[in-house]
Amino acid sequence: MQKPVISILIPLYNEKEIFPVLTGRLNAVMEQNKNYAIEIVLVDDGSTDGTTDLIRVLAYADPRYQGVFLSRNFGHQLALTAGLSCCNATQAIFIIDGDLQDPPELLPQFYNKMLEGYDVVYAVRKNRKENYFKKATYYLFYRIFNAITKIKMPLDSGDFSLISRRVANILCKMPEESRFIRGMRSWVGFSQTGIEYERDSRTKGKSKYSFRALLHLAYSGIFNFSEFPVKFIKRIGYVAIVVAMGYLFYNMYAKFIMHAPIPQGYTSLLFILIFFSGLQFVSIGLLGEYVLRVFFQVKNRPLFIIKERIENQEASEEYSSGMSKNK
Ligand code: UDP
Ligand code: MG
Repeated sequence: MQKPVISILIPLYNEKEIFPVLTGRLNAVMEQNKNYAIEIVLVDDGSTDGTTDLIRVLAYADPRYQGVFLSRNFGHQLALTAGLSCCNATQAIFIIDGDLQDPPELLPQFYNKMLEGYDVVYAVRKNRKENYFKKATYYLFYRIFNAITKIKMPLDSGDFSLISRRVANILCKMPEESRFIRGMRSWVGFSQTGIEYERDSRTKGKSKYSFRALLHLAYSGIFNFSEFPVKFIKRIGYVAIVVAMGYLFYNMYAKFIMHAPIPQGYTSLLFILIFFSGLQFVSIGLLGEYVLRVFFQVKNRPLFIIKERIENQEASEEYSSGMSKNK
């Protein structure tokens, strides 16, 4: 089979019920877009409901389907990572959920955007057909995330996206262990743009993201990309020290200049208490700074990504990414 131009990457965890509908719609999408070869990569993330066999049968019967089977359930983000390393597409990888909340029919729209010169085309949810609680937590998370990290992640967009071959290569090369793909995708750079879409609700099966799993995802998002928590602790410390010093000067002024009676004992105790708690917070924050540096170093992210070079009057489009010196 010739190399596919586009891979559609779909992680599946216990999606037996929706599987026939999913493949039906995928077949229709391939039928409608015959002008470029499409491969479908189905990642079985340790399903226990028979999804594994459904994928196996299909991959044996139809060469357009590739089955990737993980040894156990690794979770959505790692299933995507594994699948990404198996995609053969020469141009683009279309990442969608297996529960049809992200309509595969949007592929040509995304691909056309990419042909305009974008490396990442991400989907932006116009409205979520989800309960208010889930909507509100998502809403808050994306806004807090952007307020406290240096990278700008587009608001209200998940992993549903079309990414170019070179961006996929970079993501595959990033060795970090706890992965927050939508953040890494923004971090990579290049030209990125969004397409609005209506996110359907799940018709069959249950959401695999419990509230705890969502919290966990939000955690990896924040702690992998933000120094804010450590800085925040340090700031509390500085504020406490300033407050303590202010309190000290105020009391000295009252006692020695105004000759006002100030409570004995209690004043110095309060000063020492606030001052030393402040000092402790600052010290923890300083330790945190070292830990952060170690943390970002061991992540081993490329330090920079070159997207183009012109040398001897010749341009090369090959990207290369710089690694830290000691690598
Ligand atoms: N998924 C997975 N491994 C998991 C959990 C989920 O591969 O451990 C897949 C799931 O089958 C679906 C996609 O990830 O195709 C998104 O999951 P889900 O629809 O449950 O998330 P939600 O849409 O509720 O955020
Ligand atoms: Mg879903």
